[in-house]
Amino acid sequence: MTSALLLGCIADDFTGATDLANNLVRSGMRVMQINGLPAENLAAETDAVVIALKSRTIPAQEAVSQSLAALAWLRKQGAQQIYFKYCSTFDSTPAGNIGQVTEALMDALGTDFTIATPAFPDNGRTVFKGHLFVGDVLLQESGMQNHPLTPMKDANLVRVLQAQCKRKVGLVDYRTVNAGSDAIKQRIAALREQGVGIAVVDAVSNEDLMRLGKALKSMPLVTAGSGVAIGLPPNHGLAPSSQTSTLPTAQGYQAIVSGSCSLATNRQVANFIAAGFPSMVIDPQCIARGEDVATEALAWAKPLLAKGPVLMYSTAQSNVLKSIQSELGAEAAGAMVEDALARIARGLVQSGVRQLIVAGGETSGACVQALNVKQMQIGPQIDPGVPWCHAHSDAADNAGLHLTLKSGNFGTDDFFTKAFKVLE
Ligand code: ADP
Repeated sequence: MTSALLLGCIADDFTGATDLANNLVRSGMRVMQINGLPAENLAAETDAVVIALKSRTIPAQEAVSQSLAALAWLRKQGAQQIYFKYCSTFDSTPAGNIGQVTEALMDALGTDFTIATPAFPDNGRTVFKGHLFVGDVLLQESGMQNHPLTPMKDANLVRVLQAQCKRKVGLVDYRTVNAGSDAIKQRIAALREQGVGIAVVDAVSNEDLMRLGKALKSMPLVTAGSGVAIGLPPNHGLAPSSQTSTLPTAQGYQAIVSGSCSLATNRQVANFIAAGFPSMVIDPQCIARGEDVATEALAWAKPLLAKGPVLMYSTAQSNVLKSIQSELGAEAAGAMVEDALARIARGLVQSGVRQLIVAGGETSGACVQALNVKQMQIGPQIDPGVPWCHAHSDAADNAGLHLTLKSGNFGTDDFFTKAFKVLE
């Protein structure tokens, strides 16, 4: 591609990538998401690319090498600025991976300074005097102190990041951010002179993020949650517009595959069934008995597709889920269900479904893999954090496919019916 690629992003997990892509689209950029390290060049012209890695909790060395490979590809596509995206709760440990990946990217880019802030005020993540708040409480009181992989026991991000970095970590505080982008730039220059390589930046409002974005215009590397993204498109004269989220016209049949057992998804399944649409349960016990559940489900669905959307779901209430898990083992049951739903998703698309909703993070990963979807153009938002995407799949004879990947707790109760209306 050409130098028209304004922003190249590396996200450390899958749903985080979509969250960032969604913020960029809503702020005026055309965005492609790439699932995993890209093998080919970009398939379409776009303002930003988000590469979705699964590097949040893998060994730091592996996270670094994957991130550097992503960086090399983005530079080859002509990316003018690089954005390393991590979680808005700064999920990491002294062993990594935020600091280690940040410094590796700085080394590769030959830059001596970058910022770090997970601030995302729209989602209740604010940074004040270097301390991260989740809603009204400090990070270490937010439940994140008990996270199984990345327990966050200190809200002071300067300290947290310093433990992961060789370079000196400093702070651009709220007074400076409030004073405007020139003040931010002056503070950055002063920190640089003091030998600081990475600065945590305070931000408590979207206005802060807009002022910060302006100051970041010529910074080769930005590291942040998805919030900082809203301040970058104006640097290129881009403003929010419905055009950036325009996808090709949707065609074909409509279907939903749901493997999420979250409270929200349970409500969405119940809502869809109550609205009178056809649905079929995917029962892990039948799979365990050796039944070819995927083939049965597809035989059931095919004659119905011409009449309207159909739902195939393993979604279950927590008591049912627990008893299945204790009988079959949680991991084994999950893998069986994911495999069946992924085959169903592929079979549906082979049968002419071109508008597909997938509910569940892990389920989405399995379906995207089965559909062989590598690149997704990000389209209009259905609900916060959940956009429609457009992709190519060999299961669709390389015709376009509209796809939305809904992570567990996102979306209103009528999501499954509302989503298709967004494409009309
Ligand atoms: P969420 O985004 O809500 O966490 P995921 O798809 O990430 O949803 O995770 C749900 C997991 O539960 C998947 O591994 C899925 O295969 C598994 N699962 C779904 N339905 C059932 C079920 N009825 N019994 C056992 N496991 C299930």
